[in-house]
Amino acid sequence: MKAALYLHIPFCLQKCRYCSFNSHPLPQNDQGKLAEKYIDALVMEISLYAARHNNLELSSIYYGGGTPTVISADSLCRVLSHCSSCFRLSDDVEITVESNPGTVTLEKLKDLRKAGVNRLSIGAQSFLSGELELLGRTHSVVEIGEAYGTARAAGFDNINLDLIYGLPCQDLASWKSNLEQVLRLSPEHLSIYGLSLEEGTPLAKDIESGKLQACSEEIQVDMWKETERRLNAAGYMRYEISNYAKRGRQCRHNISYWKNTPYLGLGAGAHGYFEKVRYANEQDLQGYMERVLSGEFPRAVEEHQSLKDERIDTIIMGLRLSNGLSRKEFGQRFGHPFEDFYKKEISFMVGEGLIGVTEEAIFLTDRGRLLANYVLSYFV
Ligand code: SF4
Repeated sequence: MKAALYLHIPFCLQKCRYCSFNSHPLPQNDQGKLAEKYIDALVMEISLYAARHNNLELSSIYYGGGTPTVISADSLCRVLSHCSSCFRLSDDVEITVESNPGTVTLEKLKDLRKAGVNRLSIGAQSFLSGELELLGRTHSVVEIGEAYGTARAAGFDNINLDLIYGLPCQDLASWKSNLEQVLRLSPEHLSIYGLSLEEGTPLAKDIESGKLQACSEEIQVDMWKETERRLNAAGYMRYEISNYAKRGRQCRHNISYWKNTPYLGLGAGAHGYFEKVRYANEQDLQGYMERVLSGEFPRAVEEHQSLKDERIDTIIMGLRLSNGLSRKEFGQRFGHPFEDFYKKEISFMVGEGLIGVTEEAIFLTDRGRLLANYVLSYFV
């Protein structure tokens, strides 16, 4: 059996002003003891799965967070080496580590590269210092370039940069400047997300109180169109609503989510989809470590997926891909052609210009992508 593997590292230097992820500032004065204990727990959780699924093959491994690179390369490599002794890794396994500027050194990245990490993701978010400050990022614009240069020097030839658009006070001109600067670096992959205002975060509170003004939808649509235009001209293809890649550099790990295939999520608060069960691990750090280290699976929530749940998720996630949902794969997986389930919906969406249908696939049109949430909710 094949699966992808997500490993969550819930530590960062400090909390960004827009962040609602399960991440905590890493205590600076405990000499890495908390991180070491957490890594022990992660290793133990891998062993728990290996005891049940020793014939599992991992097609990709993705270290996300948090900021995995705030902890030592030795710790990250220890987990990877445990993975390869417990499971089989595909010959072409993709191993990604997320990082942030200011948390990588040449030595650390060389060690990761040596341990088999072949893809690095760098959270740049913006190339304008005022915007970085607004977001509460810990790094400067100069440090983005330094992290990128260090990654190249360490031998990474597959790098992703993350950017966020639609920030309060951002306009089309400042967004164009962000695009210009990121394209000068020429990474293999770009993840470009609209800012999501999460309730309770300092940034969302500033907008609620009127201290900051949210970016209008019209400007965000202009930014979105400009992004596609500039990136296409520079040789990137949009292959998912928020993701662009040069030829052959799509992120295989994330594609496995969008194709709704099995993945294990390990670590505090990690989510997984495995053996037709969607689950979320205990989010509380201490609670997670105590449960795993006492030999217990640390799941807090489990939902068994019916065939109908699986079908809906496959559609919702598959339509995010620019190539859309393969009609052949859908028919093989669910035993009937797509139209047998959604004849009315398809003819309505095609009539509205939101969905396109070819012999091979069903996909969102440009208009459908702009209204993706509306279109996808139609299938639920
Ligand atoms: S670096 Fe990422 S995970 Fe960490 S606080 Fe900032 S947004 Fe959250």
